[in-house]
Amino acid sequence: MARVTDRLPSNAPGDLYVDRSCIDCDLCRQLAPATFARDDRAGQSYVHAQPADDAARHRALMALVTCPTASIGMTRKLDTRAASRAFPAEVPGVPDVRFCGFASADSYGASSWLVVRPGGNVLVDSPRAAATLVDRVAALGGVRWMFLTHRDDVADHAAWRERFGCERVLHRDDLSAGTRDVERVIDGHEPVRLDDDLLVIPVPGHTRGSSALLYRPAGREAVLFSGDHVWADDDERGLDAGRDVCWHSWPEQRRSVARLAGHAFTHVLPGHGRPFHATSPAAMRDAVLALARAMA
Ligand code: SF4
Repeated sequence: MARVTDRLPSNAPGDLYVDRSCIDCDLCRQLAPATFARDDRAGQSYVHAQPADDAARHRALMALVTCPTASIGMTRKLDTRAASRAFPAEVPGVPDVRFCGFASADSYGASSWLVVRPGGNVLVDSPRAAATLVDRVAALGGVRWMFLTHRDDVADHAAWRERFGCERVLHRDDLSAGTRDVERVIDGHEPVRLDDDLLVIPVPGHTRGSSALLYRPAGREAVLFSGDHVWADDDERGLDAGRDVCWHSWPEQRRSVARLAGHAFTHVLPGHGRPFHATSPAAMRDAVLALARAMA
């Protein structure tokens, strides 16, 4: 629960506020940019403008239920049920894929995604197993696979497995005490096919066992779920990666980025950082190669 006594002084006057427990995960700013902004000096979010209408209020409440640290609060009670039921939320321009919201502090507020497909849904990384979200995912067909991009974003994986009996997929090099019993272990550096439209691509670097998932629905643009390997750069016109959050090997991460140029896709949906949407697979390949050069 956010504490009004910890309300940041930068918040605009009004009901909605961010308190000092914010960990700067960026999700509120992605969901409700009309309401939330970043205080660069503090490295935290704040309410730069109170919601002006019902639509803005709904997006702000979606941010409130997504916040991994419950750092967003209100001084009067508002009904968050509609905002909770809005997840998994559609992703503009990316059919079949939904953003799960309900980020977990255990994964430092990483995004998780649901791919809704006839052959069985895929949950990419773990949101909080909140009852409302679990019910909404069940209504969309449940979870066939739970793809874990790397060791850091596994959060409530066991609860999702217990509820849906999904097959959890994780690279051997990122197994830990909490994930050693996952059902599908990926080995080596070669891509592994899960299904006709699903390809696991090992991308060691951020962690030793980081992997991406390539989803290529027939006749439509392909999507790369990149975990913490790559994400949009600051102006969202190219790709970026984080040397300061590279826990295993920066040279290996650069080689993994370069190898991505051999795969065709148009959208990147990451764990941390912002999504990146290219205009074509060729434009995405250019962005991948530009990032590989910049990392050298
Ligand atoms: S969602 Fe919560 S933790 Fe993340 S930036 Fe916003 S207030 Fe901070």
